[in-house]
Amino acid sequence: MRYLITGGAGFIGSHLAEALLDKGEEVAVIDDLSTGSMRNIEHLKARPGLRYVIDSIMNKPLLAELVDDSDCVVHLAAAVGVKLIVDSPVRTIVLNVEGTSHVLECATKKKKKVLLASTSEVYGKADKFPFKETSDLLIGPPSKGRWSYACSKALDEFLALAYHKEKGLPVVIVRLFNTVGPRQTGQYGMVVPNFVKQALLGQPITVYGTGRQSRCFVHVRDVVKALIALTREPKAVGQIFNLGSTEEVSILALAKLVKLASGSRSEIRRVPYDHAYEEGFEDMFRRVPDTTKARKLIGFKPSADLAGILADVIEYYRRGEGA
Ligand code: UDP
Repeated sequence: MRYLITGGAGFIGSHLAEALLDKGEEVAVIDDLSTGSMRNIEHLKARPGLRYVIDSIMNKPLLAELVDDSDCVVHLAAAVGVKLIVDSPVRTIVLNVEGTSHVLECATKKKKKVLLASTSEVYGKADKFPFKETSDLLIGPPSKGRWSYACSKALDEFLALAYHKEKGLPVVIVRLFNTVGPRQTGQYGMVVPNFVKQALLGQPITVYGTGRQSRCFVHVRDVVKALIALTREPKAVGQIFNLGSTEEVSILALAKLVKLASGSRSEIRRVPYDHAYEEGFEDMFRRVPDTTKARKLIGFKPSADLAGILADVIEYYRRGEGA
């Protein structure tokens, strides 16, 4: 199969490109390097089967050409990272909404399959756990910039399902829950690379808020395997799937684990949300997926536990590869 990966030089995209090339697939990557990096795909450049274009998905004629040359589009290009979203809300909304609209429109012309990467952020402040694909979404008010991400991604999902229903476009939607691993950068505020970098540099490990908020972290390797399986499974079309781990950890406990696993002497420092993000910032207190649907259809079961994930990320930063 010929794959087009939007955002293919990013953290998840580059792992997906590599896994697909390993399986002998043809891969085209489009990335504007806004948050992705050539370093992520440097080692793939010489591989037969890889083609890459440094450009934006907002360049519609180019995107149309790339979509035409593929059988399946994995749409990962998006504004990501809570910090980035709070700092650049216009870019977040425009890229996430218009970019996805371009991808779906181009794919519809030739009925190419699209796998749309959405996010667990769409569940917002919902408080019935674990989150099921059919659960209500509880997004905060537009006056709090953070929620523009959830809202833009939820709109992407509506649009993808609308194209499926009205125009017969084969779409699959995945909601990714805190995916981590080597190549994820700490530059956009993600907690695991941030903590690991801080621990290795002997800087204070910054726990925002009380640290009692929790997350479930999944290894990018497990996510990539599931993404590939979902592109190949005809029964996935027209469906939404949660992908994530159910191993829940508080952010304070995570800080302690990172400190221990890296042998760091850093202090663990609490930082108020207002200082970390912006005045009145609202966090999600818990975020736990129900992954029954993906397990039943493609046998999804994460293989890496939190200890294994942290070991991989620490090793990556120790090798000096992380930014
Ligand atoms: N967080 C933290 N310190 C950091 C970065 C993040 O305490 O240096 C917290 C953040 O407030 C949130 C959790 O870690 O409660 C996960 O943040 P991340 O941005 O990685 O992902 P989110 O789940 O919020 O999208």
